[in-house]
Amino acid sequence: MAWAAYACDPARSRGRRFAEPPPTGRSEYQRDRDRIVHSAAFRRLEYKTQVFVNHEGDLFRTRLTHSLEVAQIARTVARALALNEDLAEAISLAHDLGHTPFGHAGQDALNACMRDHGGFEHNFQSLRVVDELEDKYAAFPGLNLTFETREGILKHCSEARARTLGALGERFLERRQPSLEAQLANVADEIAYNNHDVDDGLRSRLLRLEQLDAMPLFARHCHDVLVAYPQATVKQQRHETVRRMINELVLDLTENTRRRLAAAALADVEAVRAAPPLVGFSERLAEDNRALKRFLREHLYQQHPVYRMTVKAKRVVRELFGALLEDPRLMPPEFFERARGKEQRYGVAGRARVVADYIAGMTDRYALDEYERLFNPRRLR
Ligand code: MG
Repeated sequence: MAWAAYACDPARSRGRRFAEPPPTGRSEYQRDRDRIVHSAAFRRLEYKTQVFVNHEGDLFRTRLTHSLEVAQIARTVARALALNEDLAEAISLAHDLGHTPFGHAGQDALNACMRDHGGFEHNFQSLRVVDELEDKYAAFPGLNLTFETREGILKHCSEARARTLGALGERFLERRQPSLEAQLANVADEIAYNNHDVDDGLRSRLLRLEQLDAMPLFARHCHDVLVAYPQATVKQQRHETVRRMINELVLDLTENTRRRLAAAALADVEAVRAAPPLVGFSERLAEDNRALKRFLREHLYQQHPVYRMTVKAKRVVRELFGALLEDPRLMPPEFFERARGKEQRYGVAGRARVVADYIAGMTDRYALDEYERLFNPRRLR
């Protein structure tokens, strides 16, 4: 496999936290990808959601299908630009591992609960999952992934936290970029969620086709579909339009990034890190993409049923947190033991962190069940 000079080469990885013999028959980044796919946190993504709560229907995206869509987009662009496809895939599949139940509502609620104990941030939690919380390898904690995959997972980070992270935190302090594969996984994430939220929004009837006409990216593809297929059903119209939107965004991203890479003439990954961000849309598509995000914020995420579910989800997380922090013995014994150990070392913040880890690991339905079990006096277990 030939990579471009600016791509990450697994043979030149900055390595793993715990040294291991090199893999046979696959590259270091393939091994990362395989460990991610075999993790418990990855399987739980099937029952975690972003906008629509898991019990609302089986057809909506979950974080698992979202992560697969991100990986597929990232791999396509990586291959076209001679980046490392395996690394882009590994980062994409792992990027949401630390997400709480109930999407952003859950993350906001947990962050508020943790305000006095160091906060909660899903990116950093994804890193904690792969560095510490997955507990199945005898030789090391977590999944012991390569530096490049871990760097890609940690998209943002405060300066205060960056100072505690050693080599992984350096780029936030020095304001340098991560690898192109990491930059790509980030943009692929955006393409995937904006477009599948349009699709799920229409499917749920929270959005109507006519409303979306105000968005140029949607309007031009919807128009093309109707001209080409005047007899298309609403379902076909929706799918044909969304797939064309994704296609245009992906092609624009590929071509525009290719142009920037050619102009920057980067000799190696170090040059990538020192350069400004290079993976991105052309100005026109960047504006279309911003309009799409604005539209979803105004018309989907604020909708009455979504808003009501958001409020409810936050209450579930808040009340679970309160009860478990007050009495950690309500958690499964291994979490209780861990909470006791962390509390001895870090005080109440240590106990709170274990409660946050426990709640963040829950799927939507587990959180709802656990809420019932804890607070409904008619439920004994
Ligand atoms: Mg995502």
